[in-house]
Order: sequence, then structure tokens, then C-alpha cells
Amino acid sequence: MKKYWLETYGCQMNIAESNALELQLKGAGMVPASRADEADCAILNTCTVRKSADNRIWGRLGEFSRIKRSHPLTLIVTGCMAERLQEDLKDDAPQVDYVIGTNDKQRIVNILTSADGKLDEVSQAYEFTESYHQEGEFSSYLPIMNGCNNFCSYCIVPYVRGREVSRSVNDILAELAYLDSKGVREVTLLGQNVNSYHYIQADGTVVTFPELLRRICRVENSIKWIRFDSPHPKDFSRDLITVIRDEVKVAKHLHIPMQSGSSRILGLMNRRYDRERFISLIDEIRSEIPSVTFATDVMVGFPTETEEEYQETLSLLDHMGCIEAFMYYFNPREGTRAEKMDGQVDEAERGRRLSQLIDFQHAIFAREKEKRITEVVEVVVTQVSKHDEAMMLGRSEHNEMIAFPCDLAPGSIVTVSLNGLKGNTYTASMVQ
Ligand code: SF4
Repeated sequence: MKKYWLETYGCQMNIAESNALELQLKGAGMVPASRADEADCAILNTCTVRKSADNRIWGRLGEFSRIKRSHPLTLIVTGCMAERLQEDLKDDAPQVDYVIGTNDKQRIVNILTSADGKLDEVSQAYEFTESYHQEGEFSSYLPIMNGCNNFCSYCIVPYVRGREVSRSVNDILAELAYLDSKGVREVTLLGQNVNSYHYIQADGTVVTFPELLRRICRVENSIKWIRFDSPHPKDFSRDLITVIRDEVKVAKHLHIPMQSGSSRILGLMNRRYDRERFISLIDEIRSEIPSVTFATDVMVGFPTETEEEYQETLSLLDHMGCIEAFMYYFNPREGTRAEKMDGQVDEAERGRRLSQLIDFQHAIFAREKEKRITEVVEVVVTQVSKHDEAMMLGRSEHNEMIAFPCDLAPGSIVTVSLNGLKGNTYTASMVQ
């Protein structure tokens, strides 16, 4: 049996697509190798959002070059870096056998199993993955759209993932039923710009993201929570807030990327909302859904960002009170508008702002997490604690890790009272 080695870099969409690919590879009779140098084929599913991601892949390609000298191996590079740097990879990395863009990932298994192993033509359209599930997992991703039409000035995604395409409602509901049949308890709907989902049905009617969410939540099944990632603030409609409020299955933990707290910088980023609109969105959600918690993405050191504008980001973060945040500093990306902007902020200064931001946000985490001690929450039990066999671990609606004494099997849903915090994990006791 042929052995494969699969490495995945980057976002949740890549993870979802790799999971589906792995299922296809196994379906074709292949088995995972325990080490790259024991595999018959290696697939790198790449990311290109930051330069550091590209550098990591180039480094790995050097290692695969060494492996190929001692061991026959088919090496495939796919994903966003493959899409962006097709010609460079073909010219500068002769150890790579196939460079496969984002639209052709579905054809990797055919290439590996067909007699001539050729990729004869390039697909013009993105195909959604088949249903997949990792045995024993209680949460799963469900891709519902791909691509992005927004062209934020710093982002490479629209160039490598292409324009937005939405998956059919029937396909999505079928995959939901499949995941339910596998015992999945929480499903995350995925898309680069998930809330701009827009599917035109055969009869011409349009299904928007709030409508899709409503339909998903009204299916009777054992799925406890529906999450979605990543929404764009500009597409966060009143109707969407109403669905989140009214449908008990929608987790009341929302990831809403802020990026900056300065209206001028948001304009340069081409985010199409300003500080005031962002604040009114957060306030409206909070007043409609008092139990909501937030996560966000924040970037500092964008070209021309002043100290005052950076301080506006800190104050907006404070207002949002997130319990999770993905923080980074601006890294110019070749081929984007921001790369060519005047007023690039010195790297050392970008680093200083980021490290101060991280300390600032840690204080907010602590404040927001402390507030929740004594709350009673439902938890999906996921696994036995590695440190203590009498303790189980689980995740709450707010995506928090919780440890509690319990003898119920993973997959059960229990109610616990939060009574302490160790690092990022709550300790809790069962509520009868
Ligand atoms: S919304 Fe902006 S940041 Fe997000 S994928 Fe699209 S272009 Fe990139």
C-alpha cells in the first residue's frame, strides 16, 4: 500500500480541505506514513498570507530535496502559495513534481492513482470538498463558501482563492446530516468572508447567510452548536444579529475581525467600515445578546499608523472586551496595494506595538474571564484530562476549555458551574 505524508499550513479552510483530501487518499487505499522519509508521496498544503509562511515552505522544500535523494517520493505542493508562485516553484524547486493550484486540490488523488499521473488541464472553478469527518472528533468544519471579493489592501487571499463562490444549500444540509450521523456536536461554517454567503437556487430565489443559518438551526439533529468563521463586519446585518439571538443552536461567541481602531487606517486598509460603525455593531450585538462573548483579529503597524492611531486600536479592544484575539503586525505582502504604500512603519516599531498590544490584551482576557467565574454553562465533553484521569475536558459555547470531575463519555453534554481559572482553562463542578 502506498504511504502518504500530508502537511497543512495556514487557515481553517486549508485544514478542512486537508481533512477531506486525507479521506480521499484513504479511500484510494493509501495509508498515512509515520515519517516524511517513509512516504511514497508527500503533499504540502500551503499558505501564503505572510512572508513567513512562504519562507517555512521554502525551508521544507529544501528538506524534501534531501529526502528525495535517498528515497523515491512524489512531491506535491498545493494551496495558496502554489497558486501564487506556480512558475517560481516550477523554476526554482525542481524537486517538486506537481504544483497544484487551489482549484485543483480535488484532483490530487487522481494524479497519484492514475497510470500516467498527469494533471492534463487546469480547473477554472473551485470545487467544494466531499463530506469528511475525523474519527472521534466532536467538532468539525463545514466549508460553505470560498474566495473573497473585498480586496483589503494588505491581503493576498482574493488573488489566490479567487472570487466568492457559495456552496449549494442542499450540499451543505447533506454534509450537516453526515456530520450528525458521526456524532459531531459542534459545526463551524467556514468561508473567507462567510457572511457574504449568497446562493441562487434553481428557481431564482436567493439564500443569504442569515437564511442559511436559520435553515441549518431548524434541522432536528444532535448537533449542539453552530459557529461560523470569519465574518466581515461590513456584512454583519441586522437580520444576522436576529438569527444569532433567536436560534439557540448558534453559539453566542462571535469572531469579528476588527483589524484597527482608527477610521483613517481602516480606510487605507479598504475595510469599508469605520471605528464608529464597528462600535455600533458591537454595542448592538451586546444589547440584543447580553451573554455574547467576542474574539477578534487585530493588526498593528499598518503603513502610516501613528502612535495615536495605535492607541485607538487599544481603546477599541478594551471596548470590545474579547476573550480571544489573533494579534499580528503588518507584514508587506508582495502583490498587494499596502506593500507599495508610503510610510511603512519600521519593523522594530511594529514589533514594539505588537508586544505591547499582546500584554494589553492579556489583561483584558484576565478581566473578562474572571467575570465569568460562578456562571453555569453547558459543555460538550471532549476527552479525559492528561493530568488527572478523574477529570474530563470539554468546550463551552464560548469556546473555552473547561476541566471538571465527570464519568460521562466524550460526546456527552453536561452542565457545569465555573469555579476557577488555571491559565486559560476553567475549573468547574457538575451541576445536578
Ligand atoms: S475580507 Fe479582506 S482580509 Fe478577509 S480574506 Fe477578504 S481581502 Fe482578505
